[in-house]
Amino acid sequence: MSTPDLVGSGMTSPRTRLRLVERLREQGIQNEAVLAAIAEVPRHIFVDEALSSRAYEDTALPIGLGQTLSQPYIVARMTEIIVDSGPVDRVLEVGTGSGYQAAILSRVCGTVVSIERIGALLDKARERLRLLNARNVVTRRADGHGGLAARGPFNAIVVTAAPRTVPEALVEQLAPGGRLLLPLGGEAQQLTLVTRDADGETTTSQVESANFVPLLPGVN
Ligand code: SAH
Repeated sequence: MSTPDLVGSGMTSPRTRLRLVERLREQGIQNEAVLAAIAEVPRHIFVDEALSSRAYEDTALPIGLGQTLSQPYIVARMTEIIVDSGPVDRVLEVGTGSGYQAAILSRVCGTVVSIERIGALLDKARERLRLLNARNVVTRRADGHGGLAARGPFNAIVVTAAPRTVPEALVEQLAPGGRLLLPLGGEAQQLTLVTRDADGETTTSQVESANFVPLLPGVN
């Protein structure tokens, strides 16, 4: 990877990024820390150079190997939900992908642990997170169905690929009061919030419809 232009110019400039922030505000994102993170993190370095002029459109973009970087709205929304619902000292992301969501989380959370099953994507994501000096992000190649118990328990777990059912291991790795936010389903998905109380009891609520790639088994 050639060293990317972190500041950006023209279609990748900080001004273009601020226009995206204004659009997210209009769509209902209110958390100022989350909006500031979107304004600060250069999304264009998380996609191939050929796509960088589209990085600040509110659209999902391909990141290779059949995977996609979610649209900024859903990244902002998921981050806002976990930040607004309780502590975020220790957060697990399942599905590092490009590393963009991890970079946003790193601005508003204590420690971010992010796991990805595809080694080639993880290598690129690590390089980008290093360039951005995101030192509070730890990445591992692992199957997200199992979470990463050795690094838990987590105040929040954000899953950015869709399983059909809630992976039990993830619920078990929630700290008391922990929140698990994940898209559930196949063709039609629902972004779902599972909250674990101090007794280990869980409460589930549906947030909105979603459209993620599937959570696949094993590592690659
Ligand atoms: N959060 C990412 C978007 C990820 S797309 C970003 O900001 O760019 C979903 C990612 O989940 C893909 O990279 C895919 O390889 C990964 N994934 C799918 N199944 C997985 C699993 N079982 N464990 C870990 N990662 C998985």
